[in-house]
Amino acid sequence: MPSLDIVGDDLKVELPSGETVRFAHLDYAASAPCAQAAADAVAELLPRYGSVHRGTGVRSQASTIAYELARDVVAEFAGAGDDHSVIFTRNTTDALNLLARALPPGTTTIQFDGEHHANLLPWPNVLRLPTPASPDEAVAALDRVLRGRALRGITGPAVFTVTGASNVTGEVWPVRRLADVAHAYGVRVIVDAAQLAPHHPVSLADLGADYLAFSGHKLYAPFGAGVLAGRTDWLDAAEPYLAGGGASAVVGDRPDDLTWATGPARHEGGTPNLLGAVALAAVCAALITADRDALHAHEQALLGRLRDGLRAIPEAVEVSVFGPDQPRVGIVSLHLPGHDPAAIAQRLGREHGIGVRAGQFCAHPLVRRLIGTAEAGAAEAGAAGAGTAGAGAAGAGAAEARECATATGLLRVSFGLGSTADDVDRLLTGLAAALRT
Ligand code: PLP
Repeated sequence: MPSLDIVGDDLKVELPSGETVRFAHLDYAASAPCAQAAADAVAELLPRYGSVHRGTGVRSQASTIAYELARDVVAEFAGAGDDHSVIFTRNTTDALNLLARALPPGTTTIQFDGEHHANLLPWPNVLRLPTPASPDEAVAALDRVLRGRALRGITGPAVFTVTGASNVTGEVWPVRRLADVAHAYGVRVIVDAAQLAPHHPVSLADLGADYLAFSGHKLYAPFGAGVLAGRTDWLDAAEPYLAGGGASAVVGDRPDDLTWATGPARHEGGTPNLLGAVALAAVCAALITADRDALHAHEQALLGRLRDGLRAIPEAVEVSVFGPDQPRVGIVSLHLPGHDPAAIAQRLGREHGIGVRAGQFCAHPLVRRLIGTAEAGAAEAGAAGAGTAGAGAAGAGAAEARECATATGLLRVSFGLGSTADDVDRLLTGLAAALRT
């Protein structure tokens, strides 16, 4: 039975006080630790490791079988059907870039502007909509744009690309509702599932997605593989992502005498990342059979504990796009008026043995907007004399605080499998101390 235990769960760090504590890793959204299932799968395959699709020896045969079995498992994890391909990539960024290059000529891309840069930057002919204030607004905005698409000159193929869960706020986007709108206008839907897949089942059919991208290193399989799963037709019609061996079926003597492969091989030029694919598939297999409800309940309990605890730390203001009640995965970002989040993150690491992330998380437009909103809220509360979260610090030096925070971003806390209530409690204690001393 593949195990979802975490490798290195008991990693210890020594604090300046001389005390040794378990490292509290609260930066899963950047890279999750390795699951035992992934490490075991790699260790098991290594003695038979060889080339994929390229040899007749026993190593090559075992490796080819392992690679294609991995594809089957990932296909099941992603709910891929007969008209879908599963392509192994390096990560989500690679998967989305691959897809961007495979879109038919003249495709228009529609998106909201709060996406991670991996889902913001690769696309052609982008129509970027302001990030909406609620899921209803998101659905209405997409509907409005698509209804008037002819006026905007969108006459050819179009795609709508959206994150499943925000890497900044953890909020889950209303993907299914958005997909229903997009499909009503014949627009295909791409879901960046980098942050959703580690926390929720991600089925193409259930999400209503035509394409799904995610990363192994965020899914407890840090061996350099990612996935693009989605409809085969455009992928087979596109130029290969990487020209070379594997992607080519027949190469003649003349430069133009060449037949490209179809199916996943077309976009997997060069020797594939066998160990990455096998590790990723092992975690997918473990998650397919896991009690996802129990995992979800554990994560939501930690989230509740963190957010409850944060109420006692008004210097830290939780940010959100859709408001505090929107369902979210185990990610919370905090605006720290008057403090440099990078310095606070460093102190958490050095003095408390806690790993978090500070910055703008490759989502610059969204983070800028969230900080602006938090600052405006604090200034408003300060002007009204209300002692609400952030108002005190903003009142003490709002201009200075705004400059500092805008320059350096937010502090992000994120967790997943293997995270404990003790991790959360230590974060709360450490954060309060770092902000107050
Ligand atoms: N999309 C989201 C929502 C992310 O959070 C990230 C990484 O943080 C990416 C895409 C890019 O993932 P990768 O760095 O694995 O390509």
